[in-house]
Amino acid sequence: MKKTFDIKPDVDIEDLMFLQPATLYLLGAFVVYANNLGLPVNITSICEDVQGRKTRTHCEGRAFDVSVRGWNLLDIQNAVAYFNKNFKDIGAISSSDHKARALVYHKIPGGIAHFHAQTRLFPEGKAVPMLKQNVKCNQNDWN
Ligand SMILES: [Zn+2]
Repeated sequence: MKKTFDIKPDVDIEDLMFLQPATLYLLGAFVVYANNLGLPVNITSICEDVQGRKTRTHCEGRAFDVSVRGWNLLDIQNAVAYFNKNFKDIGAISSSDHKARALVYHKIPGGIAHFHAQTRLFPEGKAVPMLKQNVKCNQNDWN
């Protein structure tokens, strides 16, 4: 079996358990997107921003960071456009311009360039819209 993504060794793999369902959904979609293009997925952070800053999206299990190593600028721009178009109904809403964004390319001078993937906060107990629509679990599915 082939691994579909990697996690940087200093990231606690148990942090995956703190991710919100919408964020896990976004992670799955990101893995499929990158795997289909033959691009690497290396998660560099889950519970804290890659720069070491604590941000609300990371603290709340609504974000993960992925290295852009192995991605060229066009790959990066295409991914940002794709996820912000197709996942805007779960993307985190910016407090400054009120736009929903599921994928942001962070290139901070002196910092490590990376993708920051983020989802908005869904009230506890409320199903994420696409999970509610698409997940049908009955016994026959497992046979
Ligand atoms: Zn981040």
